[in-house]
Amino acid sequence: MEGYKCAKCGRVYSIKKAICPECTSREFITVDMGEECILLTYTELWVTPTGVSEKPLRLGIVEFPNGGRAFGQIITESPAIGIKLRPIWKQLKEEDGKALWGFAFQDQRKEPK
Ligand SMILES: [Zn+2]
Repeated sequence: MEGYKCAKCGRVYSIKKAICPECTSREFITVDMGEECILLTYTELWVTPTGVSEKPLRLGIVEFPNGGRAFGQIITESPAIGIKLRPIWKQLKEEDGKALWGFAFQDQRKEPK
C-alpha cells in the first residue's frame, strides 16, 4: 500500500493531497506504508451500503509505523483498539455488476475458532 509523504515536514498521508495541511507544501514523495498497522478506532455498521455483503461492516482508522493513517474496512471477528492489522487489496463491493476494489485491513491475530 502506498502513501504520500510531505517533502517539507515529513507527514504521511494515505490519500494524495494537493497541499499539505500541516505546512502548505505542495511536494510529496510516494512511500510504502509497510505491512503492518494498528487499529486506532472502529465502528460497526449493521445497515450497509448497497452492494456490500458483510454484516456488520466494520470500518476503522489505522495507523502505520510512519505515522500515516488510513480509513477502511476492518476484517476481524473481534475488533479491539490496538490490534495489529495488515493492508490487503480486496473487492469492497459490487454495484450494478461492477466491482469496486480497494484496501481493507486484515486482523493479524489468529481468529478464535
Ligand atoms: Zn508538510
